[in-house]
Amino acid sequence: MIIFGWRVVFFTLTRGIFHCPDCGVDRDYRRRQGRNFFTLFFIPVIPLTKRGGEIIECDVCHGRWLPGVLEVPTTAQLAQMPAMLLRMAIAQVLRSGDYTNATARERAVTVVRQAGEPGYDDAALNTDLGRPFEQIRVEMGHAAPTLAPEARESILRATAEIALVDGPLSASEEETLSVVGADLQLTRVQVTGVVSVARQESGH
Ligand SMILES: [Zn+2]
Repeated sequence: MIIFGWRVVFFTLTRGIFHCPDCGVDRDYRRRQGRNFFTLFFIPVIPLTKRGGEIIECDVCHGRWLPGVLEVPTTAQLAQMPAMLLRMAIAQVLRSGDYTNATARERAVTVVRQAGEPGYDDAALNTDLGRPFEQIRVEMGHAAPTLAPEARESILRATAEIALVDGPLSASEEETLSVVGADLQLTRVQVTGVVSVARQESGH
């Protein structure tokens, strides 16, 4: 007797780490693609259809999701978010003013280190300063919603303080702070409030 039938066989395309909705923590995943196979004695022998859709499978609970699940930031990414956003905000504002000012640069490095990146240094700051303006804006737009408004305000505050190190805000520094505030998804009123407090404290 010949036993035949069909079943879906999954192939692993890539692997990575994601935030598993069922486990509630970061897990390894496999990105897999299914394909129907004709089976003979339960062994897949002939592919029946074109490649099917892709799914994301958790290595631990084996839960399966559509690839959109990868857009949710992992816990590790979330932990780095404040320092990452701060770096980007500082880079935007520093280069709108005098980015060679040693005091402002030292202050920038110190603030990013305190925010959770102990390895940050002057060379890393130069790399950030060299990144395209628009690319940073897009990344900030993705990252900002993951932080509470208070955290986003404190990022803008630290950024304004750095801009004020070398004296009163120039027109372009002021404009950049507004853009950074908007990218951090703060309202105009919030931005004005944060910047004016930073101004008062700096005495400029
Ligand atoms: Zn899981």
